[in-house]
Amino acid sequence: MKKNLHPETLMMSYGYRPEWSEGAVKCPIFQTSTFAFRSAEAGKAFFEVAYGLREKGAREKTGLIYSRLNNPDMEILEDRLTLWDGAEACAAFESGMSAITTVLLEFLQPGDLLLYSNPLYGGTSHFVHHVLPKWGVHVLGFRPGATQEELVRLVEQSGLSERLAMVYLETPANPTNDLVDIAMCRAVADRFSTTERRVLVAVDNTYLGPLWQHPLKHGADLVLYSATKYIGGHSDVIAGACLGSAELIARVKNLRTFLGNMIAPHTGWLLLRSLETLQLRMEKQAANAQILAQRLKEHPVVKHVHYLGLLTPADGEAYKTYRRQCTSPGAMVSFEVKGGEREAFAFLNHLKVIKLAVSLGSTESLAQHPATMTHAGMAPEEKAAFGITDALVRLSVGVEHVEDLWWDLEQALDKACQVSPACEPQHTPRTKALS
Ligand SMILES: *Cc1c(COP(=O)(O)O)cnc(C)c1O
Repeated sequence: MKKNLHPETLMMSYGYRPEWSEGAVKCPIFQTSTFAFRSAEAGKAFFEVAYGLREKGAREKTGLIYSRLNNPDMEILEDRLTLWDGAEACAAFESGMSAITTVLLEFLQPGDLLLYSNPLYGGTSHFVHHVLPKWGVHVLGFRPGATQEELVRLVEQSGLSERLAMVYLETPANPTNDLVDIAMCRAVADRFSTTERRVLVAVDNTYLGPLWQHPLKHGADLVLYSATKYIGGHSDVIAGACLGSAELIARVKNLRTFLGNMIAPHTGWLLLRSLETLQLRMEKQAANAQILAQRLKEHPVVKHVHYLGLLTPADGEAYKTYRRQCTSPGAMVSFEVKGGEREAFAFLNHLKVIKLAVSLGSTESLAQHPATMTHAGMAPEEKAAFGITDALVRLSVGVEHVEDLWWDLEQALDKACQVSPACEPQHTPRTKALS
């Protein structure tokens, strides 16, 4: 067999053999809660390994016991997900939030300090601000673009530098595509690590992963996904994943066993199917996004476009981080229409091809209004600080024909222009000629 097969090749077969299932080319759905042991001795041996009562033998396989602990659909999915990020191990979950919260609960203790980047995904932000403090965990946020010196000073001034346990990042940030330098955060974590205690770096890689940003290669210890988004890619499942070293993932899986928030066999099977087209979908989505972002930037009703593909050397550190850390600008675009909520809503209400819905990363294009939807729970001064204005809309670009998407954006922008006192009346919609 050829060595170093590419992940997109391995997505069709890795970790599964047809002879295991009557020659079935595709991995079946193992819709079973429990697995029969060959003998009582075999059952005993499986439990000894699963409960860590002894080390697993060099050639011993982890036996199938019970679907809360392990199941073929879950395990094959986990094996395939490790390939994109070059991770040793993966744990799959029933949602992105369950992956994130299980990691935070496993690696933080009362009295610890969590340093995190802003803005965070709404669900993560709620957990960090309202749940972790109940367990005695201290939390400290920083703004995108903060320098290494600023982060070190922030931690030192908290008086808790000896208790810093984790640096948690989301990059690119949702919805503004602001970047956080993962390697720089690794250096900050190292600065506060001791020989007994490594400060962990965890990265939510939902926006660009698993294709275009590989946090483990930049010094992260843990990578997190909402697999609901690009990995699932069809807006039909909720799922999540966490990747990292075998040692850390063994701890994550151990807590998952007791919280019982593992992925279900059917969901695992759906994601195996999704992974076969992951690269095709994401490449088409990014190609569409690139064209749309460029045209939006030139549109008279659009004020500002946030898209990684529009960064230039004039953007300084953001551009350098982008070139070092990301291999594509991705397919998430946000932009401000001229005006405010009224203009943004007129735009959203008149979209015909693009659906008005939250979520992202699917084959169909979606648009939403972060200030009143995904980020509605954020304090007004925070929204202002992170650029989540009333005029901002977020687009998740799908795989449709790009000219159909542009037609839709243009006609809806014309509707935004009609309700705007600021809009130039001489702007004649180009779409008129088509209708
Ligand atoms: C959607 C999302 C999550 C939460 O994932 P669920 O699958 O909805 O639980 C976390 N982080 C980011 C960046 C997301 O977009």
